[in-house]
Amino acid sequence: MSDARLPDRFLWGAATAAHQVEGDNRLSDCWALEHATPSLFREPSGDAADQYHRFAEDLRLLADLGLNAYRFGVEWARVEPKPGEVSNAALDHYAQCVALCRDLGIAPVVTFHHFTQPLWMARLGGMGSDEFPSRFAEYCGRVASTLDGVALACTLNELNLPLLAGSYFQDRAPQASREAAETALGAPLSSFFLFSGEAVLTGGLEAHRQARAAIRSVRPELSVGMTLAISEEDAEPGAEAVRAERLKTGYLPFLAAVADDDFVGVQTYSRTVSRADGSRGAVRDATLTTMGWEDRPEALGAVCRWVSEVCTRPIYVTENGYPGTNDPRRSEFITAAIAGMKAAMDDGADVRGYFYWSLLDNFEWMFGYDQKFGLIEVNRSTQVRRVKPSAEIYSSIVAEYA
Ligand code: BGC
Repeated sequence: MSDARLPDRFLWGAATAAHQVEGDNRLSDCWALEHATPSLFREPSGDAADQYHRFAEDLRLLADLGLNAYRFGVEWARVEPKPGEVSNAALDHYAQCVALCRDLGIAPVVTFHHFTQPLWMARLGGMGSDEFPSRFAEYCGRVASTLDGVALACTLNELNLPLLAGSYFQDRAPQASREAAETALGAPLSSFFLFSGEAVLTGGLEAHRQARAAIRSVRPELSVGMTLAISEEDAEPGAEAVRAERLKTGYLPFLAAVADDDFVGVQTYSRTVSRADGSRGAVRDATLTTMGWEDRPEALGAVCRWVSEVCTRPIYVTENGYPGTNDPRRSEFITAAIAGMKAAMDDGADVRGYFYWSLLDNFEWMFGYDQKFGLIEVNRSTQVRRVKPSAEIYSSIVAEYA
C-alpha cells in the first residue's frame, strides 16, 4: 500500500453502479431474478438509464457541474458472458469510458463488482463457490489491464452488507418469491450476493485479496480498495452490547481486511440504533426518507470520525445520498453532509474524496424505479435527462471548496 498511488487532488464526484444504470444486463443473475414470477423485485431493470449507450452524455453533464471524478461500474456478465469467454467489445466499451473521463479531466473510479455477477457464476454457487475468488480475480486482472488511467479501483462494493442487513432481504421475500427466484437462478438464493451471508467473510474476502493482487500485477500504479456500507451506529441506553456485537460482526473484520489496501471506500446514508431487545432501526419519532431510513445527513461526519479511529487507510466517501422527490431537502442534505465531513477532516479524518449517490435516478434493486436518489432526473420513457436544482447546489459547494 502506498499513498503515492492516490490522486493528489480531492475528488468531488458522483457515483453509479453498472446494473443500476446501464440497462439490458441480460446475462446477469439479477436480470434472472427480476424476471421470476413472482419476483422479489418490484419491477425489472429493463433499459435502466441506458447508460451503456449514453455514457458520454452523462459524463458531460457531470463535467458541466464542475465535478472532477465519476465512479461507475464494469459489469462482469458483459465482459465474460460465458465462463472463460471474453467479450472484446465489452472490454473496448469500458476502455472508451475511461478514456472519455480522462479527455474531460474526470478521474475515473471503477467498481468491478456491485451486487451482480454473471448468471453462470451464480449457478456455480456465487460467492460461496470455491471458484469465486480465482474467477473474480481473473476477470479483474483482465479488465484492469485494458483500462488506462483509472484513479481508484474498487474490487467489491459493500462486501459487508449481507452481514449487516441480517435477515432484512429475506424478511421481504415471501416463500413463493423465494422459490421462483431459485428456479430462475437455477441455484440456491444464497448464490445471489445480497443473500450470501457468511460467505462474504470467506469467499468474499478471499476474492478481494486475489483481485487486489491481480490488479496490482498488471497495474502496479493503480490504487486498489473496496467499499463498505457504514451506518452511524448508536445504541439506546442498555443496548451498548447489542451495538458492540453489530460492530464486531458487520464492520470490524472488513475494516481489518483493508489494512493492505490503498484506501477504504465509505458509504453512509443514515443512522442505525440498536435496541436492548436485540432489534435495530431508526431513532423513535425520526423523520424518515422514502427508503424508511432516518433523514440524517450528520451520519456522514460521525462515520468519517469513527472510521478514522479504527482504520488507518485514507477514506473516500464513495457513496452518500438522499432518496426522495423532495429536491430542496436533497440540497440541504448534501450541504449538511459535506459540512459534517469537512468538520471531521478538520479534526483529523483523512478523507480524500466525496461521491454523491447517485448521478442519476436509477434502478434501486428490489425497490425498482420509485426511489429517487439522483442529481439528474431520467425520464423513464424518453431517457431525457434533467439536471435537478440540488445538482446546482452541489456544484456550487464544490466550486466553493475548489
Ligand atoms: C448501494 C447502491 C444503492 C444505495 C441506495 C448502496 O447500498 O451500493 O447500489 O443504490 O445503497 O440504497
